[in-house]
Amino acid sequence: MEISTKKITIAIDGHSSCGKSTVAKDVAKELGYTYIDSGAMYRTVTLFCIQNHLIQGDTVDEHKLRALMDSIHIHFTFNANTEHYITWLNHQVVEEKIRTIEVSDQVSLVSKIGFVREKMVKLQQELGKDGGIVMDGRDIGTVVFPDAELKIFMTASSEVRAQRRYAELLSGGHKVTLLEVKENIEKRDFIDANREIAPLRQADDAVVLDNSYLTKEEQLQKIIDLVNERTK
Ligand code: C5P
Repeated sequence: MEISTKKITIAIDGHSSCGKSTVAKDVAKELGYTYIDSGAMYRTVTLFCIQNHLIQGDTVDEHKLRALMDSIHIHFTFNANTEHYITWLNHQVVEEKIRTIEVSDQVSLVSKIGFVREKMVKLQQELGKDGGIVMDGRDIGTVVFPDAELKIFMTASSEVRAQRRYAELLSGGHKVTLLEVKENIEKRDFIDANREIAPLRQADDAVVLDNSYLTKEEQLQKIIDLVNERTK
């Protein structure tokens, strides 16, 4: 694949479970960029809330969470041998724990809280300040990096997304049903798109990529072509 040497910022936003992180990792690998999974940060704060009993039903104890925010330190490491990205909460590896259906069920409640978003956005901007990054999420092209040189808005039908996430969870040993997964995806999309702060929406200058019927290789090629166009 022919690739330009100019390093840019690539923002990939879109609906839940449409393969944003898969393609973002592939693009980062192809370009020698850093990949940052912003959803992992919101998932980690959610895990922290669960571990500290801060969520009752659909309510997060915002008062207690605000007081504890300074004790939440999130960072990522990359294992070059396995090519796996690892998420850390303080001194604990939480990569597996943040992917459970329990965390997925609660994350949209936590990610709509203003002071949580403020802290995560700061961290994301700091991590991406030198460019040469691919970051995926819901508000990367609209809020975190509004000046990103390339913005992609990804989507796929909810059936295709549920099937993919279901297969992924099963292969990771999680016990879930397809219906549970589909309901979770639709609920998250609804909350993410309708929250007051930084709702999920397509940036005006984003390129839409519906990958319902694209292979991994095809979607990677489409993005690399766009990168080459933007870095000419
Ligand atoms: O990308 P992922 O599905 O792991 O994201 C989990 C959740 O984190 C989303 O459903 C959304 O509530 C929240 N999120 C967000 N803003 C981002 C990334 C994720 O609100 N930039």
